Amino acid sequence: MTRYIERPSPNFDARTRPIDLVVLHYTGMQDAETALARLTDPAPVARRYPGPWQSDDALPDAPLPKVSAHYVVDESGQIFSLVPEEHRAWHAGASSWEGEGDVNARAIGIEIVNGGHDFGLPEFPDTQIEAVIQLLRDIFERWPDLKPARVVAHSDIAPDRKSDPGEKFPWKRLADAGVSIWPNPAHTVLAIDDDPIPHVQQQLSIIGYNVRQTGVMDGETRAALIAFQRRFRPSDTSGAADQETRRLLAALSRQLSV
Ligand SMILES: [Zn+2]
Repeated sequence: MTRYIERPSPNFDARTRPIDLVVLHYTGMQDAETALARLTDPAPVARRYPGPWQSDDALPDAPLPKVSAHYVVDESGQIFSLVPEEHRAWHAGASSWEGEGDVNARAIGIEIVNGGHDFGLPEFPDTQIEAVIQLLRDIFERWPDLKPARVVAHSDIAPDRKSDPGEKFPWKRLADAGVSIWPNPAHTVLAIDDDPIPHVQQQLSIIGYNVRQTGVMDGETRAALIAFQRRFRPSDTSGAADQETRRLLAALSRQLSV
């Protein structure tokens, strides 16, 4: 039995939907203690959380949004429990998946301690990733509707605003451990002469991304492609619908529709 350290947060309310998603985040703050303080603060104000996300002229007492998550996993692999899974924690913000907003209502949120893009994209230590894998296994056991395909990135559900847990997060390792998914494009053949964008938009929405079928490359489609690449082709997150991205997209959308 995995041991969780209780660090209760008052920032939650009632779920309005059954749990059917897990959202992974990075904390994007300087250290675990600051992130835990922020995620359990009933009345956060700007001066308590200085950092690159705040402009220099932010008023010290300016209120910040109240936030939380169900779990925080620190670099040494300690797992903190902040909000009981039965309640709705406040981690996703404005977001959408499979055509539905209010992701918080249906999701378990896990914050992984990591400085993220604002702090030079540090590596995730092995012990931390092992703890995330163990925590996901525990969660799957408690909620039989959850399975590897139901684990998403914050950047997947809010591609225009969010880039966490970022392109350093080892999604392949999670997939190898059986707690996430990975595209297998071995037998994927692309048609070369037709316009790829309508297919790309269709496949992105099969996976769950919030993309309208406009038939042309637009801002929404590019943001979703960048989110997809952060997870499945992290060496190049240009947002272009290149051959490799299209093969991975075709493969994953087919795997998810069978
Ligand atoms: Zn996040």
